[in-house]
Amino acid sequence: MNQNPIHSTDYIILGAGIAGLLCAEELKRAGRTVQLIEKGRGVGGRMATRRVADGRFDHGAQYFTAREPLFQAYVDQWLKDGVIKEWFRRLPEDRDPRGYPRYCGVNGMTDVAKHLARNHLVHLSERVRLLNRTAAGWKVATDSGNRYHGRHLVITAPLPQTMELLDANGVVLPAPANDAFRAIHYEKGLATLALLDGPSGMPEPGGMKVSGGILSWIADNQLKGVSPNVAAVTLHADPAFAKKHWDSPDEERGRLMLDAAATFLRARVLDHTCHRWGFAIANEPWPERAYSNEDLQLTLAGDSFGGPRVEGAALSGLTAAARCLGATNEP
Ligand SMILES: Cc1cc2nc3c(=O)[nH]c(=O)nc-3n(C[C@H](O)[C@H](O)[C@H](O)COP(=O)(O)OP(=O)(O)OC[C@H]3O[C@@H](n4cnc5c(N)ncnc54)[C@H](O)[C@@H]3O)c2cc1C
Repeated sequence: MNQNPIHSTDYIILGAGIAGLLCAEELKRAGRTVQLIEKGRGVGGRMATRRVADGRFDHGAQYFTAREPLFQAYVDQWLKDGVIKEWFRRLPEDRDPRGYPRYCGVNGMTDVAKHLARNHLVHLSERVRLLNRTAAGWKVATDSGNRYHGRHLVITAPLPQTMELLDANGVVLPAPANDAFRAIHYEKGLATLALLDGPSGMPEPGGMKVSGGILSWIADNQLKGVSPNVAAVTLHADPAFAKKHWDSPDEERGRLMLDAAATFLRARVLDHTCHRWGFAIANEPWPERAYSNEDLQLTLAGDSFGGPRVEGAALSGLTAAARCLGATNEP
């Protein structure tokens, strides 16, 4: 019998990405107690920044946009707080010549999550494995043996991971959700992070979409301001290449991606490493922004619901909070 103490709150939120953190923010603002459980060593999920030697790389989401006033209000506050900045407005393929703001964290994409997380109890490096629905709510246990209790559970992992967790614990959602959610799949993602021996030679703003080959995106983290002292370039693979080379050695797949980027890079590559994203972008997210089941005291959110972008995930987290609070007006 595990003797680790139980951490108890009104709400347990699984996942400290943007959806989980914004859900926590709204619940706490309404006076509820919340704890987040996150399997990663840091917060942010796919809004990720990684240090390699002296270089810093945004290797998941590259920037975000704000189309809805509700999310724009958060963005305006983060701008005021000095957490994010406008990276650029226009990519060559944009139809509107004026473009629209693309935002990023001042020191990297995790900045937003770190800023939000400072107000919350976040348990890091804790992978949720066991879920147990009780009369009083949910008991949750992690790989480390720690146990948590909440009256209500919010899960913000990508839906394939959520369904696997629910299945493994015998939690059955009523039809049609139980079947419909299984139709939501994610593309795999593959990033190569390369340290260069000098400026990349990429034009301002240091980010460009690439199509028709094995790459989908190239970004110069130095021009972006994330890696001020060291030239550090992020390459994203096209999903077909990511799938094909999922198990190839870094040396092979990274080299192929670097060769494909050679026409855009003037400097020599000193070193490179690759990062795999098992659940990068949802193919067809669920049309509603969250799923909630009052009988089960369970809410599901994240970019499987709100749309496959940072803003979609954020709005899903806010919708989840509104549902938990029984708000009549949902975002
Ligand atoms: C390579 C790539 C490029 C992208 N580019 C862009 C872009 O430029 N612009 C844009 O807007 N969006 C982009 N996206 C999409 C964007 O990053 C996501 O839509 C958004 O960050 C999802 O947020 P989320 O909170 O829903 O999920 P996540 O950020 O994935 O958060 C879910 C969290 O749950 C945790 N978790 C899962 N299972 C468990 C468990 N069992 N126990 C504990 N914790 C668990 C995970 O570790 C994770 O931190 C990109 C994504 C990738 C991968």
